[in-house]
Amino acid sequence: MIPFELHGVPREQISYGAQKVTDGLQAAGYQAYVVGGAVRDLLLKRIPKDFDVATDATPEEVRRVFRRSRIIGRRFQIVHVMFGEEVVEVSTFRSMIEAEDAQTDEHGRLLRDNQFGDREQDAARRDFTANALFYDPSTQEILDYHNGYADTRKRLLRMIGDPLVRYREDPVRMLRAVRLSAKLGMQIDAATAAPIAGMKNLLDNVPQSRLLDEVLKMLLSGHSVECIQQLRKMNLHHGLLPLLDVILEQPMGEKFVMLALRNTDERLSQDKTVSPAFLFAALLWHEVLAAWNLRVQQGERPVGAMHEAMDEVLARQKEQLAIPHRHDAVMKEIWLLQQRFEQRAGQRPFRLLEQPRFRAGFDFLLLRCASGEVNDELGLWWDEFQDASIERQAEMLQPEGAGDKKRRRKPRKKPQAVANEPVA
Ligand code: ATP
Ligand code: MG
Repeated sequence: MIPFELHGVPREQISYGAQKVTDGLQAAGYQAYVVGGAVRDLLLKRIPKDFDVATDATPEEVRRVFRRSRIIGRRFQIVHVMFGEEVVEVSTFRSMIEAEDAQTDEHGRLLRDNQFGDREQDAARRDFTANALFYDPSTQEILDYHNGYADTRKRLLRMIGDPLVRYREDPVRMLRAVRLSAKLGMQIDAATAAPIAGMKNLLDNVPQSRLLDEVLKMLLSGHSVECIQQLRKMNLHHGLLPLLDVILEQPMGEKFVMLALRNTDERLSQDKTVSPAFLFAALLWHEVLAAWNLRVQQGERPVGAMHEAMDEVLARQKEQLAIPHRHDAVMKEIWLLQQRFEQRAGQRPFRLLEQPRFRAGFDFLLLRCASGEVNDELGLWWDEFQDASIERQAEMLQPEGAGDKKRRRKPRKKPQAVANEPVA
């Protein structure tokens, strides 16, 4: 038990909803604690994303304590308790099934972990010691079964139990180690890091959708660049996640992709939104460009070739990447806008400004400028044009037909013609 005097996290740092939930459950005679990432983040002086609560009350019992709540999930039920905007996730203590009767697949992966358990068992089934701390808002005490307090203070990410066994139970924990250490600036403990190199093939047995979830969490963690660097260092990137292969193995696209990731990290650090569709559009852009160039070289008209190229790339990556279809429309819009940025005569620039996706398309254009794919001048022109007075806009417009002629006289610059080929 770590007293308040030692850890210094006051009750007020717990969200309103989580305080209400723990108070309510305790008043009804149950145990209730704030658990997991939130306690860890508070100790690291970071603002938690959300507050999860663990209790010995069953989901039905939790449901009975809070009027505005609902039971979620079938395999392992949790309860969402609503307080205005805030949703607090409440889960009943779970146990890790004993090794002998655990249900695992032939590689040792846990197929069920949905047994109710006690508090101590619930701590033991969690992944890292820093993630297994229980905070009681009414006493302001932290319960620590696995030395997580000291590890967190040392910024050490350490697996609970035998890392080999724990990675076999759930290989995604390897990726969680990478993501959490990058995001939180924690060092992965040597014994926790060591087995990863030899076990990465286990990720092949994890369902694609779970991998994509975890990769997305990395890309949207606000520390995507560090995550990618860490994955490379641990040799986890290669042949492991098709999505990451696409990112890292496009010779010409890499600069663009890294810029896009850096840009995403920056936006997140400024509390701006980032859309997964924008990110996916960036990841696949150089594939689209390569397919488009090929078609144009074969004599297809540019706009038609762009539609064909987009469909081709989306169809191809569907087999490998599991990027959900629902992002297709926005990705295509962003890509199609790129051609229209080159048309700077007549009414066309004004029509472009009115496009609902103009902002995303323009941000995308700026990335293309920064990566050296297109001339900075184009980005600067649009930067000025969108906010300019009507008089200035009229001045800025190019003579009708100029854009077309220019494009024909000066075909694309070298990077695009060989977009996907290795640099000699
Ligand atoms: P984040 O800040 O990204 O939310 P988190 O640690 O809170 O990080 P969650 O996915 O929200 O991550 O999980 C909440 C808690 O559930 C974790 O802190 C950990 O205790 C436990 N947990 C999550 N995933 C696993 C896993 N694969 N194996 C064991 N325990 C896990
Ligand atoms: Mg969390």
